[in-house]
Amino acid sequence: MKIKLWGTRAQVPTPHPDNQIHGGNTVCLEVRVEGAPTLILDAGMGLHWLGDDLLKGDFGRGQGTAHILLTHVHWDHIQGIPFFTPLLIPGNHIAIYGPDTELASQLLAQMHTTFCPVPNFFTEGIGAEIVVGEVQASEFTIGNANIKTSPINHWGGAKCMGYRIEADGHSIAYLPDVEYLEEAHRQQVVDLIAGVDLLFHDAMLTADEYPQHRGRGHCSIDDGVDIAVRAKVGRLVLFSHHPDRSDPEIENIVTTCSGNGVEVEAGREGTEYVLQRD
Ligand SMILES: [Zn+2]
Repeated sequence: MKIKLWGTRAQVPTPHPDNQIHGGNTVCLEVRVEGAPTLILDAGMGLHWLGDDLLKGDFGRGQGTAHILLTHVHWDHIQGIPFFTPLLIPGNHIAIYGPDTELASQLLAQMHTTFCPVPNFFTEGIGAEIVVGEVQASEFTIGNANIKTSPINHWGGAKCMGYRIEADGHSIAYLPDVEYLEEAHRQQVVDLIAGVDLLFHDAMLTADEYPQHRGRGHCSIDDGVDIAVRAKVGRLVLFSHHPDRSDPEIENIVTTCSGNGVEVEAGREGTEYVLQRD
């Protein structure tokens, strides 16, 4: 299994000189599994650059298949979709799944010509074959990839889902936006992520910042470390960085997290992880 980070930032893109290392695009992960189509976790602005990369291969010839798994439909998780060029190429097959029965109408809303400067490939019969649907099962397969899901506590009207992907004897979990307001919220996450090799976890707020934001959908980074230790994950990748957090500040956070019983690093845009059988 290969995982590449195309966007690591929460809320808004931050193309700032102080963010060159960890990146400024909003969240998007590419997951490659042998014997499965291209898997994509969330569709922030990083999706645009992933699209450009995919065009160099099958997607540029109209022969690509991708499945996009959305955690929820807050802007920073869907705004890359109108700018995902493989959607404009006939012959490609793109499936988009999320936790809400209203997903299709939610995605259509952001394509309205009042807001959106590109053709509406959902309704105009141009480009790729597109399927949009609700994730209806807590466990399913896409090719050789086994996907597990769980509802996750986040904020507002958006239903939110966490994902676990298993393949080739390895596993990752993805929870970019989550808050733990009660033990049940923690337990549902621990059950989903138990023992994964890599956990990509919400890192929006420090423990000092959290009290002023309690109830707004994001936990503290210390909560992320606690969950990773409790679930015995292999490595915690701090992810979904606050838009105002500079590279030196992020590295400082990693240092303070070290020595707490789990290997910790900060997600960097462009990083590729390769999980191979021994
Ligand atoms: Zn969110």
